[in-house]
Amino acid sequence: MSSTISGAAVVGGVCGQPIKHSMSPVIHNAWIAAASLDAAYVPFAPTAERFETFVDGLRGGAVRGVNVTIPFKERALALADTASDLAKMAGAANLLLFAADGSIHADNTDGPGLLGAIEAQAPGFEVAAAPILILGAGGAARGAVAALLLAGAPQIRIVNRTLARAQELADAFGERVIAADEAALPDLLADAGLVINATSLGLGGGEGPAVDLSLTPKTAVVMDMVYRPLRTEFLRRAQAAGRRTVDGLEMLLRQAIPTFEAIYGAPPSPAVDVRGMALKLLGEPC
Ligand code: NDP
Repeated sequence: MSSTISGAAVVGGVCGQPIKHSMSPVIHNAWIAAASLDAAYVPFAPTAERFETFVDGLRGGAVRGVNVTIPFKERALALADTASDLAKMAGAANLLLFAADGSIHADNTDGPGLLGAIEAQAPGFEVAAAPILILGAGGAARGAVAALLLAGAPQIRIVNRTLARAQELADAFGERVIAADEAALPDLLADAGLVINATSLGLGGGEGPAVDLSLTPKTAVVMDMVYRPLRTEFLRRAQAAGRRTVDGLEMLLRQAIPTFEAIYGAPPSPAVDVRGMALKLLGEPC
């Protein structure tokens, strides 16, 4: 938040339920302060029953834009008048922008966040070079599939506890996406260029997906979307096998960049150590 907020301040925010653990207000307000913008970014926790009423009340642009997080991303997309290709493909929106004419535009910056994190922590990795294995078939997996397909992934393989859900995802995206059974993992890993944990396994420090990451090519990159804790057991195993890793925190931070630009009209300053701030919030060593 800027130290002085005038009556002309640009207001943005984030909505979810619950929202009190969100790091987005800290990140965006640090960027606002660094640029001395007349602006603020605030948290909203609409009740699940009143989400549509809440969003409808923002039509007209009194609030310029809001991030949307769990559990509202699918409902957010359904409320929008227009949507980006990525949001449509992902079937979910993590950003709603409110125009003065009352219309709502939906976008999804989780995908760019994922690609940006890979670029930052596994430089030189080529999405188009080899098949990609995604563990999980929930909302995060769906967003990842959309972004990776648009970025040129040759084939995406989905493995999920509930195979039917993986199959549903594959059917929705066409022939470049296949669903596979856990029994096929050794074959699926053998030529995978990228393995992503998009399940909630490992959250809070538990065991990650039971996948033998040493079966991947030595050049493979392993990513975990889970970022509490930062160094998940899944990423530790990948590192022990000598694979390059990408963490979920970097994805979270990278999705915030296009969001900030869309709401406040300028790129955030790279001089602000948002990763250090987030690590502090997570109680991780910087
Ligand atoms: P969903 O609830 O939509 O999906 C959860 C997925 O995890 C499903 O595939 C589910 O399988 C699987 N799963 C859950 N429990 C188990 C288990 N015990 N064994 C095997 N599989 C299991 O969640 P999301 O897709 O929204 O989120 C997934 C993860 O990604 C979360 O940890 C979330 O925090 C993280 N995330 C991180 C982001 C970032 O910016 N870093 C952005 C978005 C999400 P099944 O279908 O069988 O139930």
